Amino acid sequence: MAKTIISVKNLVKNYGHFEAVKGISFDVYEGEIFGLLGPNGAGKSTTLEIIETLRAKTSGEVIVDGLSLDEKPNEIKKIIGVQLQTSGYYPGLNLVELIELFSGLYNRDVDPMELLESVNLKEKAKSQFKQLSGGQKQRFSVATTLINQPRIIFLDEPTTGLDPQARRSLWELVLQIRKKGTTVIITTHYMDEAEYLCDRVAIIDSGKIVALNTPDKLIDNLVASGFERVKEVKKANLEDVFINLTGHELRGE
Ligand code: ADP
Ligand code: MG
Repeated sequence: MAKTIISVKNLVKNYGHFEAVKGISFDVYEGEIFGLLGPNGAGKSTTLEIIETLRAKTSGEVIVDGLSLDEKPNEIKKIIGVQLQTSGYYPGLNLVELIELFSGLYNRDVDPMELLESVNLKEKAKSQFKQLSGGQKQRFSVATTLINQPRIIFLDEPTTGLDPQARRSLWELVLQIRKKGTTVIITTHYMDEAEYLCDRVAIIDSGKIVALNTPDKLIDNLVASGFERVKEVKKANLEDVFINLTGHELRGE
């Protein structure tokens, strides 16, 4: 039986009279990639930011690795990795200097080149953040979540706006991070991404969880209910064509 590392019970978040999160409950198991899926405005970021201790909840209970969010937020901060706002990426500093700055803030001894290598950005060590491509920016942002050697990392739409190669490159990075035992919580609205990456997903709609299971089981349940696709599925799709024409190699971009 997998160990629960995050437990959320009856979580509610109101913004004034608006109920953004309406009493959701879910557990995340240690070492899994857990997806929060849902349309824009569903409450994904709000939920993540509450668990990350960055936003106050209205009510409910959140336990992270046995630590209560109400009682031990600072202890929780030490074991989680959060993507920093890109506004914090001082424009004058290069990637190595940024990592040195952040590791100083976290009071951790990190080898910047080793960290950059792990996200395939070694050759960009002396570049500034603004000089990176979209995919490189996202990989750097993921690298910053790893600086404090966290048990759990939170990725909020890390692949939104990326081209197919950059997206795949980020997927491989996420798998690599999980392989080292880190638990990953990720939000996305790309279902192919969730299917490829996530062990389990919670689908959120208007602040409520409408389904929670493995992607495989959710699909099986839908099929068992008599659902059939309207269109005959071809053996490839347009994205396969694109990847085939523009290279299988996961580039550094
Ligand atoms: P998602 O990440 O799933 O797109 P969010 O958690 O960002 O959704 O937002 C959920 C809902 O809460 C949205 O309707 C959004 O407009 C609203 N919301 C988010 N942040 C605030 C805020 N600071 N003040 C008021 N409403 C907010
Ligand atoms: Mg969001």
